[in-house]
Amino acid sequence: AEVPAFHTLAVECIAGPEAQVLPRIGLPDDAFVHDGNFTKQELRALTLAKLMPMRGQLLWDIGSGCGSVGVEWMRGARDARAIGIEPRADRRALAAENALRLGAPRLHLVEGRAPEALSGLAEPDAVFIGGGVSEATVTQAWAALKPFGRLVANAVTLESEALLARMQADLGGDLVRISVARMAPVGRLRGWKPQMGVTQWSVLK
Ligand code: SAH
Repeated sequence: AEVPAFHTLAVECIAGPEAQVLPRIGLPDDAFVHDGNFTKQELRALTLAKLMPMRGQLLWDIGSGCGSVGVEWMRGARDARAIGIEPRADRRALAAENALRLGAPRLHLVEGRAPEALSGLAEPDAVFIGGGVSEATVTQAWAALKPFGRLVANAVTLESEALLARMQADLGGDLVRISVARMAPVGRLRGWKPQMGVTQWSVLK
């Protein structure tokens, strides 16, 4: 389903008691409608830094979930477009809503699973693998990626991390280990609540 295009002057700044100021990239988590399964703010900002949104360019957002990365890609540069590949209808609905709410209407959502669902899609300038990473998906995305294209994959499991380590040996690029902890209450005091560590592979074609 194509998200209907309309001109959103994304309400970055609402006057009055609901006032909020939003960044283009690294949006706070509560800016999205979501089901909990999505890339959180700090990791998302680092992911977008490696994807490098550029004017008019196309992102494949594989395993797009609620669309958090695709939406920020489109906010990051004028006329940027994204194709979200996501098997779950409930998450595609969240992504469509986020695209409209956050001023990123150029989101095309594809029902299906990578790698099969990637066949026949327009060649991307950048690929984010946020779900369902496999050697076949990386291989097919890498082949489709345009020259100077960027590929980024985040892994939280040992299995997907092992795959990214193999892929880095074949295709090069950087592997980075990212740990984020946010302040949280500890009784009446405060402490650090760590998130799961993430291994990020990013590579330029
Ligand atoms: N990319 C999202 C995270 C979504 S969670 C974000 O950064 O916010 C991972 C998603 O990958 C889930 O919604 C799941 O349905 C989807 N997924 C799992 N296997 C997949 C596959 N083979 N192809 C496409 N999507 C897949």
